[in-house]
This record gives sequence, structure tokens and C-alpha cells, in this order.
Amino acid sequence: MFTSKTALVTGANKGIGFESARQLLQKGYQVFITARRKEEGQKAADQLSRSGRVVRFIYLEVTDPDSVKKAVREVAAQTEHLDALINNAGIYPDGETSILNVDTTLLEKSFLTNTVGALLVSQASWPLLARSKLGRIVNVSSGLGALSEMGATAPTYSISKTALNAVTRQLASALKDKGIIVNSVCPGWVRTEMGGQNAPRSVEEGASGIVWAATEAPAELTGNFLRDGKVIPW
Ligand code: NAP
Repeated sequence: MFTSKTALVTGANKGIGFESARQLLQKGYQVFITARRKEEGQKAADQLSRSGRVVRFIYLEVTDPDSVKKAVREVAAQTEHLDALINNAGIYPDGETSILNVDTTLLEKSFLTNTVGALLVSQASWPLLARSKLGRIVNVSSGLGALSEMGATAPTYSISKTALNAVTRQLASALKDKGIIVNSVCPGWVRTEMGGQNAPRSVEEGASGIVWAATEAPAELTGNFLRDGKVIPW
């Protein structure tokens, strides 16, 4: 049974999710890292556990409701509570798509992972988070989803992240009296497989604002869009 602070991170086999898990472990959290590819996920967990900290790998495909429920049942078998959930798993399938002719199946694909996936994991996990003194959900969003700055870049990704921000607001309201705070966090443009090598930020920099929101954000700070611990416009 896990005894100290615990966290669950989706899409943690690489990129910002992996780095968030690493930073959580450094802070003394016991971490459930999840991934949709078993071999990659187990490899990541093995690498992280070399630090001597407690890390477990659980298979989780965020677009599959059965997989989500099964994964959270596995978590519940190993801990009585969760302190943090980081909905990090995401895709950027747009390439050079244009809103003028983008195939709506691509829009559905972005929605299923980036929006619905985060909602499903939150729905399954909140009872465990409610057993923490202050449970924290972080939805890893993007500045591209901010309506205040939106142009015509990456329409399906951007729209799915705007909708994810709406999921954040809905959950923050619904979970307020259960002692769970919910925020969207933009990591900035980060050098990962998704962000590419020209991005200005390292994964360490990208993950740090996410980990702050998952571990230190105060109770009053809920239902917000954050970057580096500061509120940014929706
Ligand atoms: P990444 O390196 O491409 O990693 C994405 C992760 O999500 C991978 O582990 C991937 O698994 C996982 N994933 C995708 N679909 C999934 C599914 N259906 N079920 C479970 N896991 C799934 O990207 P990243 O840059 O680290 O991005 C992490 C998050 O940050 C995303 O939500 C992204 O939108 C957001 N973000 C990134 C940037 C940036 O500049 N990089 C900027 C703003 C926001 P596989 O390895 O199996 O594909």
C-alpha cells in the first residue's frame, strides 16, 4: 500500500509526462505512471525507479473508458488516496491542416484524446482524490487553446484544448466542495516529440509549472488557466 503523497500521470512514457513524473518523485511523491504502450511505459518506470523512489507502471489508453476504469481500479488497489492527477496525454495530429477543409474525423480524434480522455480519467479518479486533504487535478492544456490569442493554427488541436479548458471549469466547479482543485496549465512551447527541437523550453522548464500546480497550488486557485504558476487569459 502506498503511504506518502501519491500522483497519477497519463502519457508518462516520454516528454513532459515523463519529466513531470520525475519531478514528482524528486518531491517525495509515489507516482503511478501510465502509458498506452506497455513496453515503453514499463521502460520509463524502470528508468525512474533507479532513483530509488516508488514508481509503478499501469497501462492506460485514455480514449478507452474500460481501460481508464481498469487502470484506476489498479491504482485504488495500491493506495487509499491520490493527491494529484496530471492529465498530460495528448496528440497534435494537425500537420498543415486548415479550418477551411479539415476532415472532421481528425477533429474527433483530437477531441477523444485531448478532451474526452482527460474527462474520463478525472471522472474515474476523483473519488480517490477526494480522500486527499487537498486533491489537485492538472489538465495539461496549451496557449493554442486560448480564445484570446487564437488564430488559424492547428485547428483540431487548438479547438480540443479550448474544450479541455471548459472541462477544467466544469470540474473545478463540480469538485470544489469535495476538496479538489482543478486547473489548466500551459507548459509553454517545449522541446519534445510533439514540440520539436526548435522549441525554446526544455522539458524541465515545461514540466515545472505543471508539477507546481499539481503539488503546491493553493486551494483558492481553482478553475484557472496557468503558465509558470501565474494566471493567463482563457
Ligand atoms: P509527446 O512527447 O508527444 O508525449 C505525448 C504523450 O501522450 C505520450 O506519452 C503519448 O503516448 C501520450 N498519449 C497520446 N495519446 C494517448 C492516448 N490515447 N492514451 C494514452 N496516452 C496517450 O508530447 P509532449 O510535448 O510531452 O506533450 C504532453 C502534453 O503537453 C500534451 O497534452 C500536449 O498537448 C501538451 N503541450 C505540449 C507542448 C509542447 O510544446 N510540447 C505545448 C503545449 C502543450 P505514445 O508515446 O504512445 O504516443
